[in-house]
Amino acid sequence: MSLFTAVEMAPRDPILGLNEQFNADTNPNKVNLGVGVYFDDNGKLPLLQCVQAAEKTMMEKPTARGYLPIDGIAAYDAAVKGLVFGADSEVVKSGRVATVQAIGGTGGLKIGADFLKKISPNATVLISDPSWENHRALFTNAGFSVDTYPYFDQSANGGLGGINFDGMLAKLKAAAAGTIVLLHACCHNPTGYDITPAQWDQVIAVVKERNLTAFLDMAYQGFGYGIAEDGAVIAKFVAAGLNIFVSTSFSKSFSLYGERVGALSVVGSTKEETDRVLSQLKIAIRTNYSNPPTHGGAIVAAVLGNPELRALWEKELGEMRVRIKAMRQKLVDGLKAAGVTKDMSFITTQIGMFSYSGLSKDQMVRLRTEFGVYGTDTGRMCVAALNSKNIDYVCQAIAKVI
Ligand code: PLP
Repeated sequence: MSLFTAVEMAPRDPILGLNEQFNADTNPNKVNLGVGVYFDDNGKLPLLQCVQAAEKTMMEKPTARGYLPIDGIAAYDAAVKGLVFGADSEVVKSGRVATVQAIGGTGGLKIGADFLKKISPNATVLISDPSWENHRALFTNAGFSVDTYPYFDQSANGGLGGINFDGMLAKLKAAAAGTIVLLHACCHNPTGYDITPAQWDQVIAVVKERNLTAFLDMAYQGFGYGIAEDGAVIAKFVAAGLNIFVSTSFSKSFSLYGERVGALSVVGSTKEETDRVLSQLKIAIRTNYSNPPTHGGAIVAAVLGNPELRALWEKELGEMRVRIKAMRQKLVDGLKAAGVTKDMSFITTQIGMFSYSGLSKDQMVRLRTEFGVYGTDTGRMCVAALNSKNIDYVCQAIAKVI
């Protein structure tokens, strides 16, 4: 008998499965709106100019690849602190933020989850319903029991869909002290709906009152309203005097998906406490993968640390953000022109890379099989993959299945 006789086949990752199906599709008009990746107007994955410039400089003076410190490149960690909390903020200046370089946003979440398991072993984790599909699996794998708080309600806004904020708040209010609440800092994945600043204030009040632990997943900083604007929610939590966790991803904002560049930041109450937290984060890293890889972190540190390259990055990120917004408007206009009578203007009130379109599973399957337009069964479409060449076709296809 083999050691692996009883090993079950794990379910396929739904999005990667969709990708495989897309790649095998022979329809010349096929469009992949499944995976959460930004493509430019030519349908190409961009290699940002700021990244190319940083790499060119790095190539001119190649360096050996020794081990990095466990918490990564110091200049990188400092740059992340600046982006997420503001370099001149009291919390950074007083040494109350521990930031570690991580293997993508996913790595930041995992290091945070492992550390939390040590300090709050019996806590439940609450994630939004729905959420990024890896949140549940990642926290479950870290040993937590995972539950949800209401977030999206298809029946809201007369059936067009929207946030069930009352339901969300009620669930948080009923949560036991110490419950870990995973919140999307901006550009909610998969729905595209963010709560308002005033609603954030209410969430923060409940987190404080109920003594909950907020873990903010910031995978899309800069894709909503701007880098500082999207980061403002973090400052609100800090101002409330909360000990929070923030995971950062540069996969999308630097178009560095494969380099796996991210971070975890934890806010402590004093510098001394934060130093102890940092020492524990290093243990979590050390026992998972020892220390992070060099290249992606070096690129991001070089760009963020150089005023010219940073300005170029902000310009390029701004162009991505503006292009996505333009595609949202084109989608709404195109659907109307294609004969869709339902009011689809909610697509322009959504933010970030995704749209919950309100299409049913059957409609999404028809889009795929009849038209080669790939989104997830939940109706999620990546608007960042629409472009001036495929938008009309996508609108026509959607109009035919609605
Ligand atoms: N969190 C959310 C909400 C995401 O959408 C993603 C990626 O799609 C991640 C985290 C993971 O980011 P990374 O690819 O940097 O690990």
